[in-house]
Amino acid sequence: MGVYADLGLTPVINAAVTSTRVGGPLMHPAAVAAMAEAARSCVPLDQLEGAASAVISEVTGAEAGYVTAGAAAGLTLGAAACLAGLDLAKMERLPDTEGWPNEIIVCREQRNGYDHALRAAGARLVEVGMNERVAGAGVRRTETWEIEAAITDRTVAVAYAASPESQPPLEEVAAACRRHHVPLIVDAAAQLPPASNLRRFVDAGADLVAFSGGKGLRGPQSTGILAGRRALIMSVALQHLDLDEHWSTWNPPANLIDRDRLPGFPRHGIGRGFKVAREEIVALLVALRWFVAGDYQRADIPRYHEHLCRVAAGLADLEGVQTLLRGSLDEDRFPTLEVQVASRQSAFEVTRRLKMSNPAVYVNESGLYDGVLVLHALSLDDSTTDTLIKQLRAALTD
Ligand SMILES: *Cc1c(COP(=O)(O)O)cnc(C)c1O
Repeated sequence: MGVYADLGLTPVINAAVTSTRVGGPLMHPAAVAAMAEAARSCVPLDQLEGAASAVISEVTGAEAGYVTAGAAAGLTLGAAACLAGLDLAKMERLPDTEGWPNEIIVCREQRNGYDHALRAAGARLVEVGMNERVAGAGVRRTETWEIEAAITDRTVAVAYAASPESQPPLEEVAAACRRHHVPLIVDAAAQLPPASNLRRFVDAGADLVAFSGGKGLRGPQSTGILAGRRALIMSVALQHLDLDEHWSTWNPPANLIDRDRLPGFPRHGIGRGFKVAREEIVALLVALRWFVAGDYQRADIPRYHEHLCRVAAGLADLEGVQTLLRGSLDEDRFPTLEVQVASRQSAFEVTRRLKMSNPAVYVNESGLYDGVLVLHALSLDDSTTDTLIKQLRAALTD
């Protein structure tokens, strides 16, 4: 019996990736091994985060970095840093921000479920722009002047959700933020690969950038990276670390926390619930190293390609089913396979059948309105690919 079987569970075929609800992608084997090794001894978490900061700086070009409990926790901690700065009394009061500047500006068209993470710190979101293209009522996207016009003395940050399609251009937004001395928080959770994006948002002028550790990086699902300005990362550390010690004995790593700048230190802050374990931090840093070294380009993309080509070939004879492979071998992205079925209705029905089959199959549901099942290969191997083909054929022909 395996650990899941002991709990009465059967592992699923996860072609949905990088979805948290299906467990995310399989961790990089080097990260799994690092996790087991790190679990066998203890290190102080502040020193480990100090070491992580150095690694994150090196690979992102940011002044400092921090390993967070996922990108969403990174957004909450980043917002907390922008709200409280190095003001200890404010740190102790969060998420209560009544009476001080607490507004984060967001583009209406970029709003998404993760802005809850910003509000959780005590921020109030101020929307700018319209969503005319989706509404079918206009031709323009949000423009930088709209963000700039909303900046007031109540503004603590501008938040920006990064994707290849995001507007207004990040460089322009960053320049506007700089003119007004307001930090820019970028949610780049799902923007890896390409590895070049590790630097891109920092280079464009972002003050804090949040990445998921458990998506394309293939670190532990519960990890993330926050990269950015040293003072903001110091505030993050102060609001995250367990500081249940005495001022006279407290000796934090100097690259993370500048003790001389503080009149004292706070008790458990708003980030205390977003704990990251030492073995998770180590595993993420190992996964990050492999990623930056190009392992995903050399080893993973060709393997994922092969699995998806095999799935496409396995469905080729089915009537009314068409497949389209997105992402070629020389593109710096993970490939996906789109399976087009007869109608929107049948896309929903096939997805439902797959989830109820045994073993269950989870596909990405982003294309269902267009009658498309999107398949990812990050959690597939030879054997699960065979099972996936079998289950897809059954669900598509039932
Ligand atoms: C996945 C995702 C997050 C959350 O990341 P976690 O690492 O799961 O916390 C935040 N924002 C966006 C846009 C995402 O895709």
